[in-house]
Amino acid sequence: MVDRLRLPRHCEACGLRLQATDEHSIETILPKRNTGRAYTLGDTIVLPDSAVSIRRSGFRAGLRELERLDDLWFLLLWQCPECGADNGLSLRILESVLVAAESATLGRAALCRAHFLDQEIGNGEVQRIYRRVYPDEDGDIVELMQLEWMLEDLCEGR
Ligand SMILES: [Zn+2]
Repeated sequence: MVDRLRLPRHCEACGLRLQATDEHSIETILPKRNTGRAYTLGDTIVLPDSAVSIRRSGFRAGLRELERLDDLWFLLLWQCPECGADNGLSLRILESVLVAAESATLGRAALCRAHFLDQEIGNGEVQRIYRRVYPDEDGDIVELMQLEWMLEDLCEGR
């Protein structure tokens, strides 16, 4: 059994609200060791020992500077079972405890707060955020931008 997160969340696109039940849990690769359990707010989640191991387990580094490994924000992606839209889920793990879980708009704030991003968050998702933040930018140019450049513009300004 894979580890799961059992957290309430809602879809930005259609407004669907999901309760924190097993049925609506999402698979996670966050913990250092897979124990097959479902984690919820307040639970201990032991992460891999280093930033490199966290990345290797399936995350890309966000633009936010890593100051301490015992206080991290993650941005995960989940798909709405009703309308199929991609949504964000921001998690804060402080001293190995899941202290915050916010069903977040997949937008600039959630993106720039994260130390680690779900690997599923790729160019397509970040381009959508970029176009919302910079609606005047030439679409052809955005199409060619690398994810790191977009993150820099979004999080540090341009
Ligand atoms: Zn939806």
